[in-house]
Amino acid sequence: MEAPNFQDLHWLLDIIQSTDIGIVVIDKNFNIEIYNRFMQVHSNIGPEDAIETSIFDLFPYLEDEWFKRRVNTVFELGISVYTTWEQRDNVFDFALKLPIHYETQMMYQNTTFIPLRSASDQVEKVGIVVYDVTDNAVNRGKLETAKDELLRLSRTDKLTALWNRGYWEERMIDEFKRNQRSDKQTSLVIFDIDHFKNINDTYGHQVGDDAIRTVSKLFLDNSRDVDICGRYGGEEFVVLLPETDVEGAKIYCERLRKAIAETTVHSQGESVNFTISLGIAVLDEHTKFPTDWMVNADKALYKSKESGRNQTNVFGD
Ligand code: GH3
Ligand code: MG
Ligand code: MG
Repeated sequence: MEAPNFQDLHWLLDIIQSTDIGIVVIDKNFNIEIYNRFMQVHSNIGPEDAIETSIFDLFPYLEDEWFKRRVNTVFELGISVYTTWEQRDNVFDFALKLPIHYETQMMYQNTTFIPLRSASDQVEKVGIVVYDVTDNAVNRGKLETAKDELLRLSRTDKLTALWNRGYWEERMIDEFKRNQRSDKQTSLVIFDIDHFKNINDTYGHQVGDDAIRTVSKLFLDNSRDVDICGRYGGEEFVVLLPETDVEGAKIYCERLRKAIAETTVHSQGESVNFTISLGIAVLDEHTKFPTDWMVNADKALYKSKESGRNQTNVFGD
């Protein structure tokens, strides 16, 4: 290969200086030999302070096993190594110069460590090439947030923020399968607002909606974090009570029933009182399918309606 002339090298240096990529060259003692303008601008360190200084004196946080191992691998094996922002946010802890992203002040980086060889093919220096990939990282973060939000929306009911029917049924099937391998009892409760049609007909839909919201709040307030609370239909609600036997489920239902009976909903200038009816089905060995479990609870609820409403019944009693 023909040796480059001096003019070519000069152009190369100009390019290294002006590129929007960080370039640092260090020797075997970790002393800096090249420190381009990107590095100067983002570190606020000029070449007079950087050149011939140990990189650890400039950036004490690099004095760790990880950085040394990377550089030594390049020296010893003569191969390039690459680090992405997913593995480590950055190598050089730079703040962003412009507040482009409100999500972060920090520069995310992909970094390559390159072996630089002498004429005799020995690795003499290591080049560290730093790419600012903050845009990628921020966009990925936004995408993740949007995905989480979509997932949440697809699983929840808009009016009440309870789990919607589809997702609740998935959880019910999971719970059913889990219980086939467990000796702990799980209860399923269905409850329904009594004479809800009257509320809508007498006071209008808006009052009806407020009644449903109030029930949902009392429902959540009276449940544990592990209970899986859902809105099954219009004014029909369902809950899975893990590790809860029939006695526990009865206590839960009666507490909720009383809380709702004692609450007055104030909406559109009206004061409305109402009650709920509940049905309990405990998962047992006779319950062969998840749908049986639901049907059993529904039968218990039906018995509560038949027997005068504002009460709890247990399937099989
Ligand atoms: P029961 O005591 O037997 O449960 O009588 P009910 O009147 O509550 O029962 P029914 O199932 O006949 O009526 C439920 C009504 O709930 C019918 C429907 O118009 C109303 N509804 C369903 N979803 C909503 C909703 O989201 N908002 C409002 N305001 N009303 C709803
Ligand atoms: Mg009803
Ligand atoms: Mg109903």
